[in-house]
Amino acid sequence: MQNKKCYMCDSPATSDEHVPPKCIFPEHKDVKRNLRDNLITVPSCDVHNANKSRDDEFLMVSLAGILGNNSIGYEHYHGKVQRALKRRANRLLDKVFLTKHTLRLGDENKFLDLIFGQPDYARLIDCFTHIAYGVYRYHFQESFNGKIKVFMGFLHSANKNHNAFKAFIAHRAEIDLREKSGSNPEVFYYRLADPDKFGFSLIHLCFYENVNIYVSLMPEGSAPPFDLGMELIKGGIETVVEIEGKQYKFNERNT
Ligand SMILES: [Zn+2]
Repeated sequence: MQNKKCYMCDSPATSDEHVPPKCIFPEHKDVKRNLRDNLITVPSCDVHNANKSRDDEFLMVSLAGILGNNSIGYEHYHGKVQRALKRRANRLLDKVFLTKHTLRLGDENKFLDLIFGQPDYARLIDCFTHIAYGVYRYHFQESFNGKIKVFMGFLHSANKNHNAFKAFIAHRAEIDLREKSGSNPEVFYYRLADPDKFGFSLIHLCFYENVNIYVSLMPEGSAPPFDLGMELIKGGIETVVEIEGKQYKFNERNT
């Protein structure tokens, strides 16, 4: 810890912080396997380590129960997450969903409660921003200095552009990203793309082999290029972006 700086700021580090939080990884008693080996830690100051447990639990409840997760995520949801929810009399769910609805599928003997609604977008972005800084620090052994932008590919939206961008970035990532890193990839892994000619790079975070987050990193001092495609999309103009012969359409007019 000596002379090490915090992964988020210039203060001296006083402890190690798990990135992503340890509670995301199921305990042995729930899955009968070791999924907590060689977890990633980064040096952290008191401020950036303090009071993180609430955010950690928030993130755990937000991610583990997502439809489409692998069996590890499913068992985690029915183990540790349910215990956390009961302990806090479901108040945690009100933090995860700003508005929520429940849909019961099946009959009274066998059913599945599907909870959906509007997530706490800002708090999720904040959690993934911290994880991206942590992963960068761990991977390159130095702190990232610049701007980070998070795109949550696992959220569903009625917005067509959101969905087109989700498919586009997933395709782009398959071309640019290097191999998976992380000791327990069924729970969490990350992939990095080398910086492009403008210094931009990309990190893909993946939880339970289903929940995808893409993070773009712009180093301090890099001049963002004028991206005509992005400007057209933001301006609401019908735009088609093509990668390897596949077309992604934005602001498509209804015919
Ligand atoms: Zn700090």
